[in-house]
Amino acid sequence: MRRFIKAPLAILAEGAEGGLVVEDGRIAALVPAGAAPPHDIDETFDASSHVVLPGLINTHHHFYQTLTRAFPPALNRELFPWLTALYPVWARLDPEKLALAATTAMAELMLSGCTTTTDHHYLFPAGLDGAIDIEIAAAERLGMRVVMTRGSMNLSQKDGGLPPDHVVQDADAILADSARLLAAHHDPSPHAMVQIALAPCSPFSVTRDLMKESATLARAHGARLHTHLAETLDEEDFCVARFGMRPVDYLEDVGWLADDVWLAHGIHFPPADQQRLAKAGVGITHCACSNMILGSGHCPVHALEAAGCPVGLGVDGSASQDASNLMQEVRHAFLLQRHHYGVTSISHLDALRWATVGSARCIGRADALGRIDVGMAADLALFTLDELRFAGHGDPIAALVNCGAHRADRVMIAGRWTVIDGTLIGLDIPRLIADQQAAARALQA
Ligand code: ZN
Repeated sequence: MRRFIKAPLAILAEGAEGGLVVEDGRIAALVPAGAAPPHDIDETFDASSHVVLPGLINTHHHFYQTLTRAFPPALNRELFPWLTALYPVWARLDPEKLALAATTAMAELMLSGCTTTTDHHYLFPAGLDGAIDIEIAAAERLGMRVVMTRGSMNLSQKDGGLPPDHVVQDADAILADSARLLAAHHDPSPHAMVQIALAPCSPFSVTRDLMKESATLARAHGARLHTHLAETLDEEDFCVARFGMRPVDYLEDVGWLADDVWLAHGIHFPPADQQRLAKAGVGITHCACSNMILGSGHCPVHALEAAGCPVGLGVDGSASQDASNLMQEVRHAFLLQRHHYGVTSISHLDALRWATVGSARCIGRADALGRIDVGMAADLALFTLDELRFAGHGDPIAALVNCGAHRADRVMIAGRWTVIDGTLIGLDIPRLIADQQAAARALQA
């Protein structure tokens, strides 16, 4: 099957003004303006009313948190008290609720134009040993490309950590399950639909040894490493008190100052640390909404990129967001960074770059994802500009960001349409909403 996406209204790619050809899950050709496709075509899609973007890539999330959106006891709190209010609720997760939460999160992402997502899952209460397997099954049902990061916590209150004792696991169980998941699911090929990364949760919930052992295990499988770092000054104080060093020194101490690592948040980095991170090739996920809602601070995106760090976007968990809409996150990141750096330093194209090429670099997938070019994955997000919010627009691509696009009309992942006319194929959304709301009510009770 060879598909021609013909004559888009606008496209975020050079030399594809006439469209692009998709075959075997990849982009087979770009078609310049006014030219015909170079191959025979089986199916033509008229994109004359669509703005075509590379599929957006979400590099940080906690799917399960869609069950605790706008949770009253956690509203209006900073990170540490926010976590303390939520840990006991999350400890009651079960397989059915996680399957619903993962489906809800990925459906919301896909409808916003996201084609690849990560998830940082670090809660494994009794009965939820197969959490990552459940998430992968949900992704396969939806047809979404994923990098599931096997999270972990083994430092609880009794040992000086933040989480309560009953939500952590011991290091042996964590490493055994991590090895199992890497062997069962990790596909290192550039066009993989499923990859695994290892993701000890944060300095205040994981031991130094587990950071080191996770790195050794991931690297033995060619997999990447992910964690939260430099999100709050509370975390920095914790690092100094417990490890006798600040977060980036700690990162280096445990062998994580390397180009197979990406970090969520990256807010509290002084300029000298930004240079060290860039020299090592560490990627940073900017989570604008989460940072604003928790009042965590400002990620110095412009400075990090100027230093040479890959910078991507993440919606972060839906308890600190409280959405999973990546196109909205593009706009919020654009506004937040422009507010900080000024109008001449940040454009809508910067924000779109973070959500595409930048995110692909963070997860080590820039060879196949994040750009529209020959040989790249056929992961595309197509938006129409027929809502009231766009009426009167000039530049169609700027309109997506500046006017607040929030819903893709069509989404293609690995050459397959997964969203058509703003509807996810094969998913009963009203039923999902009802089931998810019932599960949330039960969990929060
Ligand atoms: Zn997070």
